[in-house]
Amino acid sequence: MRDVLIVGGGPAGAAAGREAAKRGLSAILFEKEVLPRVKPCGGGLSEAGIEELDEPLPEYLKLCEVSGLRLIYGNHALEADAGRRIATMISRAAFDHYLVRRAVDAGVGLHEGERALRFEERDDRVRLHTDRGVYEGRLLVVAEGSQGKLARMVRERDGKGRYGVAVVAEIPLSLDGLPGGHSRTRPEVYFDAMDGGYGWVFPQGNSCSAGVGTFTGHPPLPRRVFRAFLDRCRFPAGVPSRGHVIPVGGFGRVLRRGRVLLAGDAAGFVDPFSGEGISYALRSGRLAGEAVADALNGGRPGEALRRYEKRCRREFEIPFRCSRIVSQLFYRFPGYFFRAFDRNDDLFQRFFRIPEHAVPYRAFLLWLLPRIPRYFLSALRPPR
Ligand SMILES: Cc1cc2nc3c(=O)[nH]c(=O)nc-3n(C[C@H](O)[C@H](O)[C@H](O)COP(=O)(O)OP(=O)(O)OC[C@H]3O[C@@H](n4cnc5c(N)ncnc54)[C@H](O)[C@@H]3O)c2cc1C
Repeated sequence: MRDVLIVGGGPAGAAAGREAAKRGLSAILFEKEVLPRVKPCGGGLSEAGIEELDEPLPEYLKLCEVSGLRLIYGNHALEADAGRRIATMISRAAFDHYLVRRAVDAGVGLHEGERALRFEERDDRVRLHTDRGVYEGRLLVVAEGSQGKLARMVRERDGKGRYGVAVVAEIPLSLDGLPGGHSRTRPEVYFDAMDGGYGWVFPQGNSCSAGVGTFTGHPPLPRRVFRAFLDRCRFPAGVPSRGHVIPVGGFGRVLRRGRVLLAGDAAGFVDPFSGEGISYALRSGRLAGEAVADALNGGRPGEALRRYEKRCRREFEIPFRCSRIVSQLFYRFPGYFFRAFDRNDDLFQRFFRIPEHAVPYRAFLLWLLPRIPRYFLSALRPPR
């Protein structure tokens, strides 16, 4: 019997495995795909994500480092530059593979190409059934992403408003650069591309990630919206695309049942405004690894696992609740916000620092609320 079994070789599972192994536990990580595997993603890794790694991000993983953003609404674009790195663009196939290799280096046993099907809890152990066999562990971490089935044995399925959807494609570079003349160094965000979310074109070295995503529910016909977005960006129609579910809101969900913990997307830890999830997957995975080690080394497993829940709530609940308020305000009135940004540089500069995690959502909201009337009036003024 192993100390811990982990389902999912994404950032959450790899971080949980590495942390558990570094703390002396025996662990097996199950990944249904053979690595490196493709993961639909914009590939934007925030500074908070980089800080979660316990070594500098290797150079070969950096497709490009970005210091600014281009925000688009209608025919209008606003640009901001921090003059320092605010995010690093990565390929998820390479990045996630690197994370799993680090977990294996720390001592985790990797079973790739093996799908977990279900688990049963016994008094002192969890029995995991996969498509190749049955395994026993003292604890189980479910880090299977947003579309897995095991999390449903722990918590209920997400209702409407608790998840969004995204459609994404990789657009290769042509001889003249990116088709449509898009920036090769600056991420573009289109706030009018999809109700309740945005469209994006993120540079990725020899290609870019283009997609639309909504974080406030499941809109009708997302693929049709995506095709219109490709057309608007002057990208070729018919590029292969993938749809994906994005859990949002990361609070108020059950995170644990008995000897089983949820981490990453399986726990719902995605920023409900930006859709950022990699840094939260890394963080929650690491906290899960710490918790299982405390549970098995400290002799009071129930208490240590409860601490995991408490710790996640303490770290993520307020930021995600505030982010959800920003999301509800912003995506309801994106045009108004965009005009207010255009006319109030202090507002724009503060907003621009949110994705960098330099301005927390709560601080942004507290700062914004008394100023809303002023910005509202400024947004009603006719254009200059
Ligand atoms: C279109 C899109 C764009 C995004 N862009 C960004 C971005 O730019 N920046 C950002 O920070 N976040 C982004 N996100 C969010 C981010 O991708 C997720 O939050 C993050 O991948 C969560 O990591 P995870 O480890 O929890 O899950 P995943 O990365 O989904 O990993 C789960 C793993 O579990 C495996 N698995 C599933 N079921 C089983 C099973 N039964 N048995 C064994 N293995 C299983 C899967 O194959 C997968 O490898 C985006 C999401 C989407 C959908």
